[in-house]
Amino acid sequence: MSSRYQAVKGTRDILPPESQHWTIVEQTARNLFRQYGYQEIRTPVFESRDLFVRSVGETTEVITKQMYSFQDQGGKWLALRPEGTVPVLRAFIQQGLYNRPQPYRYFYIGPMFRRERPQKGRYRQFHQIGVEVLAESSPLADAEVIAMAAEFLGSLGIRFTRLEINSIGCLRCRPAYITALKQYFGNHRDALCEDCINRLEVNPLRILDCKNPDCRDLFPNAPSIDAFLCSNCHDHFAQVRNFLHHLAVEFNFNPRLVRGLDYYMRTTFEFLVGESSAQNAVLGGGRYDGLLKELGGPDWPGIGFAIGMERLMELVPREPFHEESYEVMVIPLEPSAILDALTWTQHLRQNQFSAWVNTNSVSLRSALRLANKCRVPFVVILGVDEITSGKWTLRDMRSGEQIRFEPDSLMEHLLRIRQTN
Ligand code: AMP
Repeated sequence: MSSRYQAVKGTRDILPPESQHWTIVEQTARNLFRQYGYQEIRTPVFESRDLFVRSVGETTEVITKQMYSFQDQGGKWLALRPEGTVPVLRAFIQQGLYNRPQPYRYFYIGPMFRRERPQKGRYRQFHQIGVEVLAESSPLADAEVIAMAAEFLGSLGIRFTRLEINSIGCLRCRPAYITALKQYFGNHRDALCEDCINRLEVNPLRILDCKNPDCRDLFPNAPSIDAFLCSNCHDHFAQVRNFLHHLAVEFNFNPRLVRGLDYYMRTTFEFLVGESSAQNAVLGGGRYDGLLKELGGPDWPGIGFAIGMERLMELVPREPFHEESYEVMVIPLEPSAILDALTWTQHLRQNQFSAWVNTNSVSLRSALRLANKCRVPFVVILGVDEITSGKWTLRDMRSGEQIRFEPDSLMEHLLRIRQTN
């Protein structure tokens, strides 16, 4: 059958059993983050457009090219959230969360939207798991956030990730670096792609994030930020690295690591997989002191990261699931058995079994065939004999063995089997 409707380009359906893997990964994140004192926050998927334009940066690609923004019927400009940090901070300020006691540590899990060119690992609706830590300025916070990210990837069994870290300085020291970059890339203008020629004017730092190989060829000789860091930024970064050593988190210093959003300052980091670096960031984050104040909140620092779920799921080694749709299929063969089947199946569910009353199959044979196909381990048959004798038939689909029980003993029998398994 050909489908009349197709999912929108750049979006995709997450189907079972893949969706089960997603749930497990999300649960792993929830458990780990809770150990570090993070609490979940859920914000709307759309916000006013302005919120993102000002904070993410008017000249960033995320805003200029990728953000889904639209006017609603009331003429208000809205945007599907392209990232999770800014909505969390908006909620933090609006809901007065800063009046509560510390820690201000939050995590979120949910869809984000960017109109990127669809390609492997890049979607227009994608999902992120992210964390935000507010009001912690110490380099220890940076190191702890990074260590937690490493622990998360490790706990999922993901290997061969490379952590790259950098400091992109602060408003005091970055301008001199940007001037130096502008000069350097200005001298190589002819080799730059069209986007980077534009970036040269509006946001030279972002050239370092370009994926174009010709532009990338220029990077090795480009000025390096570490020569420009002010003493505060320099000390902060040195301490972050010390703490990471202490926590036994391995990293590479990459002086050209910049991130796609304008609000970052000082520590930036990415976990990469594979060889061609920029394409393969599975997790990225950094410090964003100043952003909370800019959004109208207290002048408190912040740091966080976001993991791309789609890319993450490609890396998670997985055990095959038993593709079991139900544990018990109850088959009433007579209309008069349906109500008994229904109530008893509810008891099964109250006892934490997954169960289904099959009234679809036309015969016992076809019901058993279906149970086989769906790998249902137990079937309960309710035919005329069973109804009149009050003894129902339990069939073990793996052995083919059939035993008769009164309904209560049947439940006890199933509970016993589960306990011994
Ligand atoms: P960012 O919010 O740009 O710092 O991205 C953080 C992470 O989200 C990246 O490392 C990717 O894993 C993931 N990500 C960003 N954009 C996309 C996209 N269009 N499709 C899938 N994953 C994405």
